[in-house]
Amino acid sequence: MSLEVSQKITIQKVKNSKINQVDFNNLPFGQVYTDHMLVCDFENGKWSSPKIVPYGAISLDPSAKIFHYGQSVFEGMKAYKDAQDDIWLFRPFDNQKRLNISSKRLAMPELPEAYFMEGLEALLLLEKDWIPTTKDSSLYIRPFIFASGNGFHASPSDKYKFIIACSPSGPYFGGKLKVLIEQHYSRSANGGVGFAKAGGNYAGQFYPTNLAIQKGYQQVIWTDDTTHEYIEEAGAMNIFIRINDTLITAPTSDRILDGITRKSIIEIAKDQGIAVEVRNISVHEIIEASDNGSLKEMFGAGTAAVISPISGFGYQEKDYVLPELDNTFAATLKKQITDIQYNRSADKFGWRYSV
Ligand code: PMP
Repeated sequence: MSLEVSQKITIQKVKNSKINQVDFNNLPFGQVYTDHMLVCDFENGKWSSPKIVPYGAISLDPSAKIFHYGQSVFEGMKAYKDAQDDIWLFRPFDNQKRLNISSKRLAMPELPEAYFMEGLEALLLLEKDWIPTTKDSSLYIRPFIFASGNGFHASPSDKYKFIIACSPSGPYFGGKLKVLIEQHYSRSANGGVGFAKAGGNYAGQFYPTNLAIQKGYQQVIWTDDTTHEYIEEAGAMNIFIRINDTLITAPTSDRILDGITRKSIIEIAKDQGIAVEVRNISVHEIIEASDNGSLKEMFGAGTAAVISPISGFGYQEKDYVLPELDNTFAATLKKQITDIQYNRSADKFGWRYSV
């Protein structure tokens, strides 16, 4: 860690840790929080020195702009502990850069890299005993920034809070997903905020997702907002489709989040000699492939779940079932990416970051 920001971080420790109350063998995803959080305020045009304080509620004025105008961006990342108890992050600078890309789109101040990285590392070193070591578990990290300034005027806030909270977590989803290809609602639009990790993007997804759940699906496959013809994302994950032995994923755009798992999978797959096509893929192409037997796999990709295989999809009142294969790209790619993340294999791409 450099001394630029870390020297100035103040630490107020809890008197009594909660760690002994946690059952590390039965961790839900994202529902247990560690003892401390990092807090950093933006006021008078600049970020103050980060503070590490006991995890807990924060007080805001009812006129705080986050409540009314939704200026809120976040990231999702994980810390992994290896067999030697060393701590690793996976491509953390990409999360740091993406947080700023999101902030810029919502007219929020960008956070300098040193505040993010040094704040995060100081917090992780303090919370290292909270990083679970049971299989597929990790410390889920939630950095976020929101408008804490007051006023009922629809304009950007003059004050913001950057917080990092951590949650020891088990695996994200259980089982394969049955998904519905969305034909009416849109997650994002050209010129919109779909590429940003903005809180409101998720709020807008909940209602259509609930409708899909009522129909017996677990997730929505988002299609483009203009024609609903082209496949874009799977819930809050990027999506991959395997036709014969080619892996296809939509190109990133205004409407699609530039997922770190997605771009890592593209590189790992290519390195394995798998043909990867980054291009638009239509619902009709998938249905035709399903009908002629060339549709082999579909899966979502994101930090939380890593890779979530899809068992089948619904489209225009009809269900399509994917084949059950023995050796899937999903399983091979998940093993390779998690082996890098948990320091079980060499890291030829240079993605692992030691804390
Ligand atoms: N798309 C959306 C909409 C997401 O919220 C996420 C999760 N951040 C992803 C894709 C996957 O991104 P990543 O691999 O960086 O977690």
